[in-house]
Amino acid sequence: MAEIGIPQRPLRVAVVGSGPSGFFAAESLLKSLVVCAVDMFERLPVPFGLVRGGVAPDHPKIRSASRVFEKTAEHERFRFFGNVTVGRDITVEELRRFYDAVLLAYGAEGDRSMNVPGESLPGSHAATEFVGWYNAHPDYRDRVFDLSCETAVIVGMGNVAMDVARMLATPVDVLKNTDIADYALDALAESRIREIHIVARRGPAQAKFTLPELKEMAEIPGATPLVESDEFTFTPACRQEIEASPGLKRIVEVLEEYSRNRPGSGRNIRFRFFLSPVAVLGKDRVEAMCFERTR
Ligand SMILES: Cc1cc2nc3c(=O)[nH]c(=O)nc-3n(C[C@H](O)[C@H](O)[C@H](O)COP(=O)(O)OP(=O)(O)OC[C@H]3O[C@@H](n4cnc5c(N)ncnc54)[C@H](O)[C@@H]3O)c2cc1C
Repeated sequence: MAEIGIPQRPLRVAVVGSGPSGFFAAESLLKSLVVCAVDMFERLPVPFGLVRGGVAPDHPKIRSASRVFEKTAEHERFRFFGNVTVGRDITVEELRRFYDAVLLAYGAEGDRSMNVPGESLPGSHAATEFVGWYNAHPDYRDRVFDLSCETAVIVGMGNVAMDVARMLATPVDVLKNTDIADYALDALAESRIREIHIVARRGPAQAKFTLPELKEMAEIPGATPLVESDEFTFTPACRQEIEASPGLKRIVEVLEEYSRNRPGSGRNIRFRFFLSPVAVLGKDRVEAMCFERTR
């Protein structure tokens, strides 16, 4: 059998998906002592997955990861095939026939639903849609978001929730200097949202965001981060957990600082704890949300 993985006959690898996983895998393959040739297949016309369509436009440093990927893409044994949906335009079986190896790096594009009544009412959106919209993702750029109301509720308290809250709270004068889609900037300029609630089922010790994202909330011009003091509570087990983790301790300290803030005259970002969504309420569109206390 002919030798594979040499300059005359590279190991041919098909990589499905052009996000960070696909590109870092391609980079490793191309740097390997086994000589590889990489063909990357991407559903969208443009590469970089969520680095382009997910990471917030006001985080240019993280987005600049794509420069490393561009370097990989310049490699002589790398080819990019955009607008190819594996599973529709070509099957994995077909790829396996043409390549020595197939590497699946197609990300996690689906949303998780809350499974509560009213979730499909107009005005209720998955973060994926809103994030894709302000990032000009081809799947979401035509979406319309009604920002004419005063209150927005974000369910979940990880870094995506922080991105969404920041986009809603940041003045357009600041956002206009970012990579945000022009139409999103125009829509946000008309936004009447003043109260932004970020809601978590569990308590401050279980919040999933990271410290830099939390601290950024205090740096948004005209916005005030707030924590309801009666929701800023801990069980003895939580206290122990906090004491054992310097990172978590710092997060809790920052939240405590926010609990001393008073509502401002601009936009208020309210961290809400121990609230589980029960229903999205409204006749023809979202009018309110119902939560139950978990503690
Ligand atoms: C809103 C948001 C903000 C984020 N912010 C940060 C951040 O600030 N810092 C950070 O480190 N991480 C951040 N992340 C996480 C980071 O973006 C992901 O961890 C990372 O992009 C995952 O890389 P991936 O390659 O596995 O998937 P993806 O980036 O999703 O890439 C998968 C690619 O596969 C393509 N694809 C899907 N199906 C097919 C198919 N059938 N055929 C061909 N192609 C297909 C997709 O179009 C996509 O381009 C954020 C995520 C989100 C959602």
